[in-house]
Amino acid sequence: MSDQSLPSGALEALQRPSNAGDRSTIRKLSDFDQGVLAVSASHDEDLGELTHKFDLLCPRNGCGSVILKAGVGRWVERDSVELDISKEPLHPDLPTLPAPPATTHWWLVTPNIIEFENIGFTRPVQKDAVAAQKLKFLICAECDLGPLGWCEEGGNEFWLACSRVGYR
Ligand SMILES: [Zn+2]
Repeated sequence: MSDQSLPSGALEALQRPSNAGDRSTIRKLSDFDQGVLAVSASHDEDLGELTHKFDLLCPRNGCGSVILKAGVGRWVERDSVELDISKEPLHPDLPTLPAPPATTHWWLVTPNIIEFENIGFTRPVQKDAVAAQKLKFLICAECDLGPLGWCEEGGNEFWLACSRVGYR
């Protein structure tokens, strides 16, 4: 017997951290008939605002790392952002967002990254030579799946796309 026969990736799979979710319990926004309505509830501190009543997870089957605890983000509908500037094909767990200036649904997290359980960032990207601000994209801290959302470099607002996170 040789240990060369382990399929690549098997060892990493065994070593996944304990907060990795059970794949069968990760739900996507598209799994809920009522969309955002089905996953939202009044915010504890500000009843006029909506928050997510589920923990937000990395949507990748087999990862499910907890990104944000329930009740932290605030629901906002605002301009969509072009997240997919890479030439690589989009991962099947990441639905395409509408093209700006159409709006889409976001979970807004403020004022800093301490609010997150786990989150990763890409290097700053300047999408538009005219724009002064550079964007960073939010990715899963465990498996690098993304972009799941965005923030401005040095900014204090973090935007997660409602359709690009899992719910549990
Ligand atoms: Zn992940």
